[in-house]
Amino acid sequence: MAEQTPDFLAGYRNAKLVKTVLAEIHQTVTQPWTLMEICGGQTHAIMQYGLDQLLPPEIELVHGPGCPVCVTSLELIDQALMIAKQPDVIFTSFGDMLRVPGSKEDLFSIRAAGGQVRVVYSPMDAVKIAAENPDKQIVFFAIGFETTAPANAMAVIQAEKMGLDNFSILPANVLVPPAMHAILSSPNNRIQGFLAAGHVCAIMGYWEYPPIAEQYQTPMAVTGFEPLDLVEGILQTVKMLEEGRVAVENAYSRVVTYEGNKIAQAMLAKVFKPVDRNWRGIGTIPLSGYGLQEAYQQFDATQRFDTGSIQTEESKICIAGQVLQGIKKPSECPAFGTLCTPQTPLGAPMVSSEGACAAYYRYGRKKS
Ligand code: SF4
Repeated sequence: MAEQTPDFLAGYRNAKLVKTVLAEIHQTVTQPWTLMEICGGQTHAIMQYGLDQLLPPEIELVHGPGCPVCVTSLELIDQALMIAKQPDVIFTSFGDMLRVPGSKEDLFSIRAAGGQVRVVYSPMDAVKIAAENPDKQIVFFAIGFETTAPANAMAVIQAEKMGLDNFSILPANVLVPPAMHAILSSPNNRIQGFLAAGHVCAIMGYWEYPPIAEQYQTPMAVTGFEPLDLVEGILQTVKMLEEGRVAVENAYSRVVTYEGNKIAQAMLAKVFKPVDRNWRGIGTIPLSGYGLQEAYQQFDATQRFDTGSIQTEESKICIAGQVLQGIKKPSECPAFGTLCTPQTPLGAPMVSSEGACAAYYRYGRKKS
């Protein structure tokens, strides 16, 4: 894998090269196509560099569920809030999660009321806090896709090695392939091609995707995050669509291999097992999340803390579920930019740094 220094990456932001690929896309396309970029990081890059506005009008980009903060269910957030309120708990989380609204409050309000909620940059930070605070229970909110799951697995293994009985995780990792199945099998589906998330594939490879592409006759290109990566992924997908070809191609080969990172995959299989998971606004997708294997159940915060039965009710205004499935654009939400802004978010996609609604707001994609 090439070392990605700033100078190296500058080549992937070179306007002349990006324009050359864009010109090829314009020459290639002959009819309308709807493509979904899975990852919220890709959505933000597309908006930031204005790539959506430079594509031919025939190509519509819709935005997928690849924002972990956005798809974490209200039940899990409420569960996190109940755990974080308990007196001997230090609740640790990535910063994005703190402002995501639960049913009645968020982690920030728990902290303001005296709860011990700490922002960490890695689950290993939470393990360190556990080692330093043996009289407290340390819980890490383990959100994310396959990309962040190996670090969560490593934290559990490390806590076991250190004999820490005061560390646990609230398992919330979600998986891309089951979400693709859910989107493509929906009667509302209008996705004809996918840009698969490069960072997820860096861990998992893309060997899971060809059967999905074949089953739904939907071509895919594994795509990175720089402007040149994105237009290359779009070009490869459009070429397959125009040629009537269904395949999974790799437009991010400087980082991704077909097999992925086998060591990370082995660690994931050791610590986690696939479980059904509820995706916020979408519903339960079978085997779409990671739960802890039997051997690591003692590190599961849901086993350690009784949070009772949680009843939740989603905002009646927020259409995040439709946005996350590519059915609607953020600018089609009646609350976008009025009732719902980054300062007064009604839904997670306006809070998260990877949320599509936040991207539309930040980069000025107004109501059409
Ligand atoms: S703009 Fe706000 S209310 Fe509308 S879908 Fe996005 S997060 Fe929900």
